[in-house]
Parts: sequence; C-alpha cells; structure tokens
Amino acid sequence: MTICTTIGETRQWVAEQKKKGHRIGFVPTMGALHEGHLSLVRRSLSENDVTAVSIFVNPLQFGPNEDFAVYPRMPERDFSLLESLGTDMVFHPPAEELIGGNIQTFVDMHGLPDHLCGLRRPGHFRGVCTIVTKLFNIVQPDRAYFGRKDLQQLLIIEKMVQDLNFNIQIVPCPIVREPGGLAMSSRNLYLSTQERKEAVVLSRAIKKAASLPWENAQASRIIEELRQVIESAPSARIDYIQIVDRQLNDVQTVSPGDILALAVFIGKTRLIDNYIFGEELNF
Ligand code: AMP
Repeated sequence: MTICTTIGETRQWVAEQKKKGHRIGFVPTMGALHEGHLSLVRRSLSENDVTAVSIFVNPLQFGPNEDFAVYPRMPERDFSLLESLGTDMVFHPPAEELIGGNIQTFVDMHGLPDHLCGLRRPGHFRGVCTIVTKLFNIVQPDRAYFGRKDLQQLLIIEKMVQDLNFNIQIVPCPIVREPGGLAMSSRNLYLSTQERKEAVVLSRAIKKAASLPWENAQASRIIEELRQVIESAPSARIDYIQIVDRQLNDVQTVSPGDILALAVFIGKTRLIDNYIFGEELNF
C-alpha cells in the first residue's frame, strides 16, 4: 500500500494508474476508521482496478466551538486496517498541504445546505464541498463512495458533481450499524458506557417510524411519537427531528422516499441518523 502525504506524490501515483488504464475508486474519510468506512472501501475494491482512501480531518468543516482539536486521530491503526483490506493508496496530508497558504476560493452551494445540519453548523457544507472538490481534483477518481449515514452530505455531493460537471460517479452506500442499532460513527468513541447504551434511542426512533402506519400520515404526529422515544434517554437533547423531501423541505404528510432526519446530543456528543421511508430496515 502506498502512503502519500503530499499532493505531488499523489498526482504521481494517479498518473501511473491512469497510464495503466486503471479505474480509480476513491473513499474520502476523516479517519478513526470503523466498519462503516471499511464497507465503503470493500465496495470500492470490488468495483474498481485500484482504490484510494484519504484520511484528512478537515478544519474547514468544523465550527469554532466544535470538536476539531479532539477529533480522534489514529493514522497508524487506520493504515494497517486499510492495508489488510488490500487498499492501494492512502492520501494522508498534513493540514498545510491542503489548506495552507492563502486559500481564497471556496465551493459554496445554495439550497440543500440551507436545511438540517447546514443550519446548525454554518459553513460546514462549504468546508466539505471545498475539500471534496480539492480531493477530487487531486485523486481524479472514476467513482467515489459516500455513506448514506451522512445523507445531507451525500445529496449535496451528488448535486455538486452534477452542477460542476465532475466526471465522477458518486456511489451511495448503506448505513452500517452496531448490533444494537447505533449507526457507526467515529464520534461514538466520545460516548461513555452509559451514553452508548442511551444512544440506541436514535435507531429505536427509526425502527418506530418504520413500524408506524406512516404513509399519508401527518409528519408532525410521527415526529411527536419519535420525540418521546428519544426523550426516554436522560442524556438525550434533541437538536432536530424532521421529515423532509429530497430537496430537504419539511413535508406535511409522509410519502415513500421522504427522509426522517435526526440530530441528537447524547451528553456532549452530537449524533445523526436517518431513515428513508419505504426502505427495508436491516437491523
Ligand atoms: P467521515 O470519516 O465521518 O467523514 O466519513 C467518511 C465516509 O464514511 C462518509 O461518506 C460517511 O458517510 C461514511 N460513513 C461514516 N459512518 C458510516 C456508517 N455507519 N455507515 C456507512 N457509511 C458511513
């Protein structure tokens, strides 16, 4: 497995692959890898000649009072996990390499980011779009893999790729969960044992939503039921529970394909999860 820390080395690796006619699959991550990330890597390995993974904790997507400084970083462990899967290249640049100097150009979308997490985390998706654009320009993948766990991010990246004519296929991948239902996340490492138990209320709310007679039901009534499920956990504080359409606008009555989106603080840790109405649950 090749480990690149500079843009130059990465471009050289990419040029060698293109010369061989290899198709490149790409999985951008912030590291502290878990099965959710690894499922994306396995999918990429199975669909492309070579797979590149980036590990970069992106300062641009964290707000001033967020967890950038303490976000878990364990590159050596991540490298060995990726190597054991057969990953071909890891791009692990220091922050200065990607956003050093006087960067004056940003990718800013209007529309999809003005909802859900975008409202609570101003500038977050601008940071995501800017870094993903830079990574796409450096790695030049044929396909890029994103988890449905971060559904708003996935929809935004799909839209950005369409709007800016990136010649890249975005491949959405299913949410990977712990056996109890908790969606895997690097931020789960922040949870105490007690909080981890309580964090299952997010997936419990999703199960509840899926089991209700939701079709044509009032969204507000479903949300009220889910609020009660979440509030059964003493350490839970709801950031939002919303049911939205694919443009992320709130719906009055629920139809197949609408999205239940949850953001809940468990103690100090903010967790997100979602469910697309009509989809089979795998937990
Ligand atoms: P992150 O390292 O949190 O930026 O995530 C990198 C990629 O992994 C994103 O496309 C995420 O949506 C995806 N991902 C994170 N957690 C999960 C999960 N539990 N299931 C599926 N994909 C995930």
